[in-house]
Amino acid sequence: MATERKSLVAGNWKLNGSSALVNEMNQALNACDFKDTQVVVCVPSVYLGQFSASSFDVGAQDVSSHESGAYTGEVSADMLAECGAKWVIVGHSERRTYHAESNAVVAQKAQRALEAGLIPIVCFGEEESIRDSGDYVEHCVKQVAVVVEHLGIERFAQCVLAYEPVWAIGTGKTASPEQAQEVHQKVREFIAQKSAEVADGMRILYGGSVKADNASELFSQPDVDGGLIGGASLKADDFKAICQSA
Ligand code: PGA
Repeated sequence: MATERKSLVAGNWKLNGSSALVNEMNQALNACDFKDTQVVVCVPSVYLGQFSASSFDVGAQDVSSHESGAYTGEVSADMLAECGAKWVIVGHSERRTYHAESNAVVAQKAQRALEAGLIPIVCFGEEESIRDSGDYVEHCVKQVAVVVEHLGIERFAQCVLAYEPVWAIGTGKTASPEQAQEVHQKVREFIAQKSAEVADGMRILYGGSVKADNASELFSQPDVDGGLIGGASLKADDFKAICQSA
């Protein structure tokens, strides 16, 4: 029988926010009972310590692949944990594109996160040209496979995945529920080749222009276990509505 996977909604503020928004979210989200849905807000790391979250967790959006040393500007997994992060996004397509992060670097970052007790939300997804070429499943599976190989299936089991088709991020062009389901299912099948149990328990979020009015249809797909929310996580009412539809 299939495992009951706890639904999860994570906000990704990206390079947005302020102390005022932290206060607003603290108040708005702590006043909610999200019942069976786990809620995470991933913020610029300088704001981590300003949260007093009770109904939700906070997370970061990136982590250094190094433990410590002469890496100016980097923030380590231990530092994030010390500042209150429980989660960290790794391998977001904006990091892959603007900071040339390879699959190997993403896998290393996931490892650092796990070593510090953080849960990595490992992002994968194809660009529009790859979708058009028809090779998007292979592309997505490859991105996930590198992380599985690096961590080994047992440590990989502690990650959460997020399918974020690049063409749907911030574009208003959401993947249809069927498009999301297809990739989620194929990635789960790939994981099942290593371990049926890990595949069954693995939460796979969908991200890319999720809004309050399309969230429940996406989240109702059998292999979609919640969402990674960019733009719509910056408004408390929208984000709450999305969390409540998971
Ligand atoms: P979006 O971003 O919801 O604004 O499309 C999602 C993401 O990049 O995580």
